[in-house]
Amino acid sequence: MDIVKGNMGWIEVVVGPMFSGKSEELIRRLRRAEIAKQRVQIFKPVIDQRYKKNGIVSHSGLEIDSEMVTQGEDILTKVAARTEVVGIDEAQFLGETVVEACVKLADLGKRVIVAGLDTDFMGRPFEPIPRLLAVAEEITKLLAICMRCGNPAVHTQRLVASEELVVVGAGEMYEARCRRCFEPFLAQQKVEEEKAASAARSHAAR
Ligand code: ADP
Ligand code: ZN
Repeated sequence: MDIVKGNMGWIEVVVGPMFSGKSEELIRRLRRAEIAKQRVQIFKPVIDQRYKKNGIVSHSGLEIDSEMVTQGEDILTKVAARTEVVGIDEAQFLGETVVEACVKLADLGKRVIVAGLDTDFMGRPFEPIPRLLAVAEEITKLLAICMRCGNPAVHTQRLVASEELVVVGAGEMYEARCRRCFEPFLAQQKVEEEKAASAARSHAAR
């Protein structure tokens, strides 16, 4: 952010696919705020307990303590009046209310830093992140490295058979892919293949 006078708040959003360094960047910004002796509170969704319950952990092993919430609106009840900086990771799992919550906190004069996936496993906009981008003062879009060819990767490739929007997992279930190597229908094709294989098995058993 450029010039900010008085106690004005704002919203910064960090987006990109999995493995693009969103958590690392969020942790870096929050650590710097802590070094500047600002009062910081950090939140992540209950759904994401992959590495640590009360902390955000990046794929490279950086860590910072956090509080858990179920919905965006829970953040409003947990933020103390004197908190100056609010960090939120994996915001795509916090529902529609996360947008209102961020706006309210920024209106109260707080700096709100949010990280999340902007697209889903099929490459579609991942609500409510696109709405958050629309109300943010600052947007940072990070790219990962394509695991197939090494080009800049904008997509999160799901490698397992599932058509659910939310399937929480890390290394073995997802990888970063560039626009050329991305296969948006791969997870769906795997579901079809599994169905066909199980139908063939039950047919053979008869
Ligand atoms: P995000 O929060 O966007 O999922 P993280 O901040 O947790 O990303 O992790 C970023 C780190 O992941 C990188 O610094 C790097 O060490 C590691 N990494 C693993 N696979 C990749 C990849 N395909 N592209 C870039 N970084 C990767
Ligand atoms: Zn590629």
